[in-house]
Amino acid sequence: MSKLVSIRGAVTAKNTKEDIVRSAIKLADELYFKNGLRDENIVNIQVSVTDDLTAYSVARAIRESGHAVALMSASEPDIDGGLKGCIRLMITAESDYPAHNVYLGGARALRPDLTNVYAIALDGPSGAGKSTVAKLVSKRLSITYLDTGALYRALGLTCLNRNISVSDAEKVEKCLKDVSVEIVYDNGTQRVMVNGVDVTMLIRTPEVSMAASAVSAIPYVRKKLLGLQREIAENNSVILDGRDIGTVVLPHAEFKFFLTASAEVRARRRFNELKAKGQSVTYADVLADVITRDCNDSTRAVAPLKCAYDAIKIESDDLSAEQVADVIVSKVTESLQ
Ligand code: C5P
Repeated sequence: MSKLVSIRGAVTAKNTKEDIVRSAIKLADELYFKNGLRDENIVNIQVSVTDDLTAYSVARAIRESGHAVALMSASEPDIDGGLKGCIRLMITAESDYPAHNVYLGGARALRPDLTNVYAIALDGPSGAGKSTVAKLVSKRLSITYLDTGALYRALGLTCLNRNISVSDAEKVEKCLKDVSVEIVYDNGTQRVMVNGVDVTMLIRTPEVSMAASAVSAIPYVRKKLLGLQREIAENNSVILDGRDIGTVVLPHAEFKFFLTASAEVRARRRFNELKAKGQSVTYADVLADVITRDCNDSTRAVAPLKCAYDAIKIESDDLSAEQVADVIVSKVTESLQ
C-alpha cells in the first residue's frame, strides 16, 4: 500500500508573468518527474510565494498547465535576509518511493543538504563485481552503500538454518513471517541483523548464495525487503547494488548502471574470492552456480534481473573495479556540477 509523503521544492523567478509561469511549471514538472507522480496520486499542493512576486499567480500557472489537483496558495511576508523572488511548493502525495525534493536556480542555496541527495542504482548478474565497485564509489563520493544481496542472503540463511525447503514458497513465507531483517552501519561497514543477531559473516557461502537466489524469486520475500531498501535511500545519497534496483526498488534513481561480464569471467572472480577466504570450491562448481543463478534471477516472474531501459550498460570483462568506478564517479560528478 502506498504511503503519504511530503515532497518539497523551491525555485527563484523574476517578477514577470512569463518568468513566474516558466519557473513554476519547471519546478512542478521536475517534482512530478523525480517522484514518479501523476495527478491522481496528489492529495494537495501548497504553494507559497514571497510577496515581491506579484506579476502572476503561481497556483493559477500550475492549474493552467493542466494539473487538476487541490492547490492552496499563500503569500510569504518579507523576512529580513530571506531569499527574494522565491516560489515554494509542498506536495502531499501517495507514493511508494522516498521523497525527492527539488531546489532549482537561486533556491538551491536554501537546502544544499536536500539539493544534493541522489541515488545510484547498480544492477547486474552475480559476480559482475558490483559490490567491489559500489564500495569504491561510495568511498569516493562519500555516500551510503547498500548491498541488497545481503538481505536476500540473510533470509536464505534463515530458511537453511530452520530446515525449510527454499523452493516451497508457502513454507518460506510462514518461516519468515516473524523474522526481522535490519541493516546497521558500523564505521561505514554494512552489517545484516536477523532478529537482532549479526549474520554478516555467515552469508557468503555457496549454499547461502543458492538459497538466496531461490527465496528471492518468492513475491513475499521481495515485498518484505522492499520498504527497507527504499528507507535507506530516503534523504541520503546512496548507491544500491542488486538485480532490480533501477527497475523496481528505485525506478526514479538519478543514475542507473548495469554492470555485466561473461559467465566465465564472473565465475573466475568469484572462485578467486572464495579461495582467498579459504573455502574449498572448484572453478567448475562456481561456474555452474553462476549459470544457474543467472537463469533463476533473469527468468523469475517477479522483479527479474534486467537492464533498466535508461541504465548505462558497462561490460567489465576487460575492466578493473577501479576503472568501472571511474566511469560511474565521473558520470555522477559531471552531472552534479
Ligand atoms: O548479489 P548477491 O550475489 O549477494 O545476491 C544473492 C542473490 O540474491 C542473487 O542471486 C539474487 O537471486 C538475489 N538478489 C535479488 N535482488 C537483489 C539482490 C539480490 O534477487 N536486489
